[in-house]
Amino acid sequence: MTENPGFVLWFTGLSGAGKTTLAVALERELRERGVRVERLDGDTVRESLTADLGFSKEDRDKNIQRVTFVAKLLSRNNVGVLASFISPYAETRDYVRSQVTNFIEIFVDAPLEVCADRDVKGLYAKAFAGEIENFTGVSDPYEPPQNPDIHIRTDQQTVEESLQSILTWLEEHNLIPERVTL
Ligand code: ADP
Repeated sequence: MTENPGFVLWFTGLSGAGKTTLAVALERELRERGVRVERLDGDTVRESLTADLGFSKEDRDKNIQRVTFVAKLLSRNNVGVLASFISPYAETRDYVRSQVTNFIEIFVDAPLEVCADRDVKGLYAKAFAGEIENFTGVSDPYEPPQNPDIHIRTDQQTVEESLQSILTWLEEHNLIPERVTL
């Protein structure tokens, strides 16, 4: 297996913006290139490592702190971590950057209206009906990254285009090998 440096691709954005879709597609592509990767996803982590936490600012910060600890251990041992978390607070994302090896902030950006129209998990309908407290973008803040390493507009790009722009960025920064075509 190719030895690649560890890194943390941190996908941040509103619910339904496309974080998980891109992380899953990227995981598949990177494995095919022989890169050792691990994917950490907000929804699954919240069913295990942080099942005790809710969505107050304090709990959101604790959620990210625990994930950061895992990402730190993996990235310093040459694993590429694909982390998809809404992570609405800029200060908390800066904390992740300070802790892990090769932090790359990816702003997965789509307007709230587009995310709400997609309503992948049916949560926006509930949030707009006032049935969910602390729902990011509706009844809770989202602080967009001011200076992301990669900015993806999923309302203007196909999944394939978004994926390609991330892969190109990683290749240009010598974090992953180029695809070998036989
Ligand atoms: P999140 O993980 O951010 O909550 P999901 O990945 O679950 O969001 O859902 C995003 C939805 O947007 C999916 O239905 C996906 O097919 C769609 N989509 C459309 N264009 C894109 C794109 N360029 N990148 C990622 N997702 C996209």
